[in-house]
Amino acid sequence: MRPFNHLNPATLEEAAEALRQPGSVAMAGGGDLLGALKDDIAREYPKLVVNLKSIPGLDRTEVRDGALCIGALCLLGDLSRNELVLQYAPMLAEAAGKCASPALRENSSIGGNLCQLPRCWYFRKLNNRFDCARKGGERCFALSGDNRYHSVFGPAVFENCDGKKRACIAVNQAELAPPLMALGAEIVTTLRTLPVGEFFGVRVMSTTVLEPGELLTEIRIPLPEAGTKMRYKRFSFRKSIDFPVVNLAIVKTPENEYRVALGGVAPMPIRAEAAEELLRGKELTPELAEAAGRAAVRDAKPTEANAYKLQLVKTLLKRELISMMD
Ligand SMILES: Cc1cc2nc3c(=O)[nH]c(=O)nc-3n(C[C@H](O)[C@H](O)[C@H](O)COP(=O)(O)OP(=O)(O)OC[C@H]3O[C@@H](n4cnc5c(N)ncnc54)[C@H](O)[C@@H]3O)c2cc1C
Ligand code: SF4
Repeated sequence: MRPFNHLNPATLEEAAEALRQPGSVAMAGGGDLLGALKDDIAREYPKLVVNLKSIPGLDRTEVRDGALCIGALCLLGDLSRNELVLQYAPMLAEAAGKCASPALRENSSIGGNLCQLPRCWYFRKLNNRFDCARKGGERCFALSGDNRYHSVFGPAVFENCDGKKRACIAVNQAELAPPLMALGAEIVTTLRTLPVGEFFGVRVMSTTVLEPGELLTEIRIPLPEAGTKMRYKRFSFRKSIDFPVVNLAIVKTPENEYRVALGGVAPMPIRAEAAEELLRGKELTPELAEAAGRAAVRDAKPTEANAYKLQLVKTLLKRELISMMD
C-alpha cells in the first residue's frame, strides 16, 4: 500500500470540506476501500483518506416520524441483530447477515455497502492493469471479454472525464440495495433526500450520484403497514464469502401491491416493473408466480456467457412468490 494522509474529522462539515478537495476519499469500515487501495486499482492514488468513524451519531438506529432511520455508519453485523430492523424490515436484517463474512460484517457499514465500487474483474485487476472506461479510460474490456458476471440488461452509457460517452456493463453489487428499494427507502445525504432508486449512478470511480464532498448520512424506511410480507433471496456460487450473482427482494402489501427489486443483473439495482404490474391487485398462485418470473426478464439482453442469470431470476422470483402465498 502506498502512503496517504489520514483525517479524523469531528463533524460532517469538517469531513465534507476535506472531501471537496481533489484527491480525497471517504472511508467508513474500509472493507472495500482499503482493498482497492492495496491493489492499487485506480488511475490516481488518494492523497487524503477521511475517516467517517470519528464523527459521532452516524451509527444510530431509531424509529422517528413514521420511519425506521438507520445511520450510514451502522454496521452490517449490528443491523442483522437489531431489534427494530428485525421487527420492521426483517429482510434487510437477513441481507445484512448474509453479506461478505462474519468478520467483515462487524466492520462494514451500510453506507459503505451502498457506495462500494464495481466488482468487475477488469476494474479490480491489480495495479490498474485494465484502464477501463469506468476509471476514465477509453474502452470497456468486458464488452468483448469475459462477461459472465456482467449485466443482462445491457450497458450503462455515461459521460467520461473527456466528455465522451462510454459504456459499462459492470453490475451494481451492493447487497442491501434491492431490499431497500423494495422497502421504498429514502437516502439522506448532507445535501438532499432522494428515493433509493435515484441514489445509484454509473460514473467514473463511483456507483452513486454523490457529488464531491457529499456524504450519505441516513437511510429512512417507511414503517410497513400491518400484514405486509417481505422476502429476500440471494444466489451465489460458493456457500460462504461470495457476492451474490443475483439477489432479489419482494414486498407484498395486504392490498396486493408488490415491489420487486433485483440486484446483480444491471449496472444499477432495478425494480422489476413488468412483474410488479402483472402482480398488482392479484392473489398469488403458482401460475402467476411463474408468469411474474418471466415478466421480470422480458426486456433482458444477455450475452452468451451470462444468459444463465435469466433462469436464476425466473426461478428465484417464482419460488419466493410461492412462499408468500396465504
Ligand atoms: C471478501 C469480501 C467479500 C464481500 N462480500 C460481499 C457481499 O457478499 N455482498 C456485498 O454487498 N458486499 C460484499 N463485500 C463488500 C463489503 O460489503 C463492503 O466492503 C462493505 O460493505 C463496505 O462497507 P465499508 O464500511 O467497509 O465501506 P468502505 O470500504 O469504507 O467504503 C466503501 C466506499 O463507500 C464510500 N463511502 C463509505 N461510506 C460513505 C458515506 N457515508 N458517504 C459517502 N461515501 C461513503 C467510500 O468512499 C468507498 O468508496 C465484500 C468485501 C470483501 C472484501
Ligand atoms: S464493465 Fe465497466 S468496470 Fe468492467 S471493464 Fe467494462 S467499463 Fe470497466
